[in-house]
Amino acid sequence: MSLSLHNTLGRRLEVLSPLEPGHARLYTCGPTVYNVAHIGNLRTFVFEDVLRRHLQASGLRVTQVMNLTDVDDKIIRGATEKGVSLEEFTAPYTEAFFKDLKRLNVEPAERYPKATEQVPEMITLIETLGSRGHTYESEGSVYFRIATFPDYGKLSRIDLSQARRGERVADDEYEKEDVKDFALWKAAKPGERSWASPWGEGRPGWHIECSAMSMKYLGSRFDIHTGAVDNIFPHHENEIAQSEGATGEPFVNLWLHAEHLIVDGEKMAKSKGNFFTLDDVLGRRDDPAAVRYLFLSVPYRKKLNFTWEALGAAAAAVERIRAAAVRIGELAASGAEKPGAYPIEERSEEFRRAFDAGMDDDLNTAEAQGALFPYLRDVNAAIDAGALGAKEARLARSTLERADRVLGVLPVAPEVLPSEIEAQIEARNAARKRRDFAEADRIRTELAERGIVLEDGPGGTRWKRK
Ligand code: AMP
Ligand code: ZN
Repeated sequence: MSLSLHNTLGRRLEVLSPLEPGHARLYTCGPTVYNVAHIGNLRTFVFEDVLRRHLQASGLRVTQVMNLTDVDDKIIRGATEKGVSLEEFTAPYTEAFFKDLKRLNVEPAERYPKATEQVPEMITLIETLGSRGHTYESEGSVYFRIATFPDYGKLSRIDLSQARRGERVADDEYEKEDVKDFALWKAAKPGERSWASPWGEGRPGWHIECSAMSMKYLGSRFDIHTGAVDNIFPHHENEIAQSEGATGEPFVNLWLHAEHLIVDGEKMAKSKGNFFTLDDVLGRRDDPAAVRYLFLSVPYRKKLNFTWEALGAAAAAVERIRAAAVRIGELAASGAEKPGAYPIEERSEEFRRAFDAGMDDDLNTAEAQGALFPYLRDVNAAIDAGALGAKEARLARSTLERADRVLGVLPVAPEVLPSEIEAQIEARNAARKRRDFAEADRIRTELAERGIVLEDGPGGTRWKRK
């Protein structure tokens, strides 16, 4: 495996080398569930999904943790306005988030911890920071004193000469002009939901949440941490200060940041009102795979300009892939034999190499997608010329399925029904009786490709799922 990824920490390409051989540990900042996600947010989550899938395709076990921010200034404001509890306020948005991920064929992470369920861990981390001299208290709130952490600014490369030492910022989100001591714990305001702590009633800041949850589930040092570029400062800069301040050790090896999705040259943002939700988009074109394909058509470190024309082009591309998959699938299930008429093994290998080279080059999904079309064109031409048999088509099919395990745009193969398997076993027994071993093998291989393994024993043939 030689996967190069662009590390924001150091601004250079680095080859991934997991701390624990064979196992990649990944933390992906999750949504703030105060609203329905917009497609800019979703582009970042699809980028993380493709990272996850490519790590798996490269033979690694992946442990991915994504937090759900279910308490922050905006959530408290929203819940107060509606007169409901935090849980009641965030539940529908959390549900909508998972529905969107499912529609975009995003594989679930191993864990989705909620901030409100991890407050004790955050308090412990703040206490550790206190014992190491990184914090101070003011009116029931606790702040991180950035002057105590000489590495502060190493990720975002902010100009620390502008930092007004000793000044502090209580908001979770702020701009570079506000390089200041930031809140780890915020004193409760009257009527707000709060938790008991050594500093009195209050609630955690946003940044401490991700340090506490990532270290709890992935260890104090892990491989990859991701988000969009707006997370670099202050969120991830602060996470490094908190985590490395507490352990005295490096926190994360690789920091990956996705560029923004934009509309009319501007960042799509809830605050600007220039956003589409996935429902808005699907209302105009009901094809979630096309949305996913569009996201991947621009490498994650480039801005993606969302237009309806680009979505139309993505839908056409997905349709071409689907049509080819159906055609190849039909031939694969036929009895056609054309041994040697087309060098499918060489062509498939050439495609696999081009696809992997794109993905290994800092997840260049545009290049990987680009390699697919000449391959499908050649396979289609070979079918037109009658030069492909069922065996060759099966190889083309598994090659396409392998690429789609990363791209994720083909419909999931329908579940194989037991009655269908029994019928196939009977057909195979009949073939063996008439000594048509080629056909018997074909049936076994086809079932194997669909995840069904056959075992011949004295009592007949039994099957199980792989
Ligand atoms: P939020 O729910 O606001 O915490 O955002 C969830 C994720 O989406 C974060 O990683 C943000 O950095 C990211 N994000 C926000 N706006 C955009 C955008 N226009 N394009 C891509 N990612 C975005
Ligand atoms: Zn985070």
